[in-house]
Amino acid sequence: MSDKCRTPRTKELEFGGILGAVILLFLMPATMFHLLLTCATEQASVLSIPASMPALATLWNPNTALLLLGWILFQAFLYMLPLGEVAEGTVLQDQTRLQYRINAFHAFAITVLLMGTALACGLRLSYIHDHFLQLAVSASAISLVLSFLLYAKSVCAEESALSPGGNSGNPVYDFFIGHELNPRFGTFDLKYFCELRPGLIGWGMINLAMLMKETELRGSPSLAMILVNAFQLLYVVDALWNEEAILTTIDIIHDGFGFMLVFGDLAWVPFTYSLQAYFLVNHPHELSMLSAIGILALNTLGYAIFRGANSQKNTFRRSPTDPRVAELETIPTASGKCLLVSGWWGFVRHPNYLGDLIMALAWSLSCGVTHILPYFYVIYFAFLLVHREARDEHRCLRKYGLSWQEYCKRVPYRIFPYIY
Ligand code: NDP
Repeated sequence: MSDKCRTPRTKELEFGGILGAVILLFLMPATMFHLLLTCATEQASVLSIPASMPALATLWNPNTALLLLGWILFQAFLYMLPLGEVAEGTVLQDQTRLQYRINAFHAFAITVLLMGTALACGLRLSYIHDHFLQLAVSASAISLVLSFLLYAKSVCAEESALSPGGNSGNPVYDFFIGHELNPRFGTFDLKYFCELRPGLIGWGMINLAMLMKETELRGSPSLAMILVNAFQLLYVVDALWNEEAILTTIDIIHDGFGFMLVFGDLAWVPFTYSLQAYFLVNHPHELSMLSAIGILALNTLGYAIFRGANSQKNTFRRSPTDPRVAELETIPTASGKCLLVSGWWGFVRHPNYLGDLIMALAWSLSCGVTHILPYFYVIYFAFLLVHREARDEHRCLRKYGLSWQEYCKRVPYRIFPYIY
């Protein structure tokens, strides 16, 4: 194999290096369980330790584990159906491109159809609320097992298939960050599959389950619950509808598939992103019509920025001569690629993050201002995106050198205009 195809050793370790990886291995699940346990208490105070912890033996439920496995396998079956187009990913280290089946929206539509039928036949979706903690434990266990299997597979993988960021030679770090870039069985791409389907569609299902539980308890869903469900469903459907766009994201291009993404996709996203709906079941909030209209306007603004920015960059990267982006001003780079310097990407350097954060705020505001817990998402997300932006900036500076410096001069703010 030529040296060009070999993935070089990772020299710059991210997330605080080996120690950071070890801490995050425990911190991610611990934070998730702390949030879920707190949410189930009356005070729902993130700063206090819940008075009584459930007995460990009650947390493991083989039925919830089987239910989750069945859900993942069902989504895997839908992924393999010959529906939808096949798209090419970006050029890999060995100059090849992988092919990806674009059918996440089809999978969602089939799931909704079957779920609707099951609900009409009397399925009680509120089971999810009643076994939420056990489901989260099962999701964590499945994530851990899958991460070990992925690491074992990566040890036997070709050198060119390793992730540029997860080839440090330290097993703990590589296990956490992801050793292999695009682990596959035949055409079944494990990372691409997990990124959008079981967790993201699962998040939508969990929210619906919380709405049903609230209806069982109080006769009808609250306005706050309807808004949280509608906003987050829009976010999920948007991601599934624009599935092809994830082929140019950092997760797919740069990050390997290890515990960080596996746990993130299968446990963290469905069980902590649904915290607002879970919170509203136990802590009802009366939202006035005026507040609801204001929050709706905020979410619409966030969505317009988020979608506009992501679509603009995606269109430009796929076809710079497309009439929708051809008029935009650009900076050439030595790599042959250009950087947008007008339109959304001339407003701030990460307009898509700005839109995402505005939406996150709208979701939290729907739950009122009496508790911090429903604001966990927007606070955590701000940290995540600021850190993600710094990682991306570092990579872009390495990739584009002087052109990137020129871009930073022309567009001085990273995410928040005139602030950051
Ligand atoms: P981006 O989609 O923003 O991709 C960053 C890349 O875009 C850069 O590496 C560079 O890659 C390219 N780029 C940067 N500036 C320019 C420019 N001026 N002109 C042209 N191309 C440019 O990153 P993410 O993958 O982080 O985010 C994708 C979406 O996912 C975002 O909307 C984000 O908010 C969302 N997200 C959501 C999360 C969640 O948990 N809800 C978590 C993480 C992200 P290159 O030049 O190589 O093309």
